[in-house]
Amino acid sequence: MKIFKDYEIKNESTFKIGGIVKEAAFPETLDELLSIVNEYDLVLGNCSNVLFSSDFINKKIIITKNINGLKTEGEEIEVYCGTKGPYAASEAQKAGLCGFEFLAGFPGSFGGMICMNASAHNQSISDTFVSADIYDLKNKKKITLYKNDMKFGYRNSSISDGNYIMLKAKFRLNEGNREKIKEIMQRNVEFRRTRQPSLVHGNAGSIFKNPPNDSAGRLLDLCEFKGVREGGAAVFDKHANFIINENNADSKDVLTLMNKMYSKVKEKYTIELEPEIKYIGDREKEEYKLWEQITKNTQKMPK
Ligand SMILES: Cc1cc2nc3c(=O)[nH]c(=O)nc-3n(C[C@H](O)[C@H](O)[C@H](O)COP(=O)(O)OP(=O)(O)OC[C@H]3O[C@@H](n4cnc5c(N)ncnc54)[C@H](O)[C@@H]3O)c2cc1C
Repeated sequence: MKIFKDYEIKNESTFKIGGIVKEAAFPETLDELLSIVNEYDLVLGNCSNVLFSSDFINKKIIITKNINGLKTEGEEIEVYCGTKGPYAASEAQKAGLCGFEFLAGFPGSFGGMICMNASAHNQSISDTFVSADIYDLKNKKKITLYKNDMKFGYRNSSISDGNYIMLKAKFRLNEGNREKIKEIMQRNVEFRRTRQPSLVHGNAGSIFKNPPNDSAGRLLDLCEFKGVREGGAAVFDKHANFIINENNADSKDVLTLMNKMYSKVKEKYTIELEPEIKYIGDREKEEYKLWEQITKNTQKMPK
């Protein structure tokens, strides 16, 4: 397994932002992951929902993207934590199974997608989830969690607090028509292509969660944020709930812009938007205050 000290993390994230982390490990098997997991501060997948600080990050991070692969048996699919959504969608389509169409063009890995209960196009991870092999960091043992144990909610689950590491998971899909599945997948990819920023400009998907019965994008659009810039960061001009890394943005640019968005919506609509992305930086640093102003510590930081 590759382990790097003082690793430049920027290119691991879809945002293409980030400084040096104390240590980054890239296990290739579950055994390798389990052999180090208790010594590390945080486990990540494809880093498509995170903003790394551009400062030095005094943390030891595991990235699971090399632990990938899946097995199909009848209507069941078993996936390893680092497997990416689009690969699983394409394998399910080949097997004539529906339920993963929303993962076509989706940048997350299964560890992150289960943690966040990823969803799109009226489908979510929780719909087809059966069970997962989990490593319980506190009790230092492997356990199995079933759907009822997972407490899947809107962009969270019982593994969101960082105490449980998803190793592999089972899903039960439904038999379907291969052509029809392919057509839906293509439609989903086209939807993303026309309405969301491509990864040519770094981004981390939706910045804020939707408030109950409303849409963060709608509120931010009404506050005229489309195209607003801060340093190298800009609000995407087709969807106000995306921030893109337009021109070598750093984490401070993004956090400052997020603060402006949060404050304006709060002032105009008395709604406090909650970040959907996770910020990874050190609590002691000045920049962390910018994050605290938005989250008021509603998001638990890793150890
Ligand atoms: C262009 C774009 C479009 C997007 N569209 C959507 C969308 O339509 N719907 C949606 O829901 N999201 C969307 N996202 C956000 C993101 O892709 C999802 O949140 C995804 O689930 C994150 O997966 P990841 O592997 O990248 O997780 P990461 O960003 O690596 O991590 C996210 C969280 O998951 C945890 N985690 C990762 N792996 C594990 C593991 N093995 N065990 C336990 N915890 C783990 C991390 O600790 C972290 O807290 C989009 C992002 C981008 C860039």
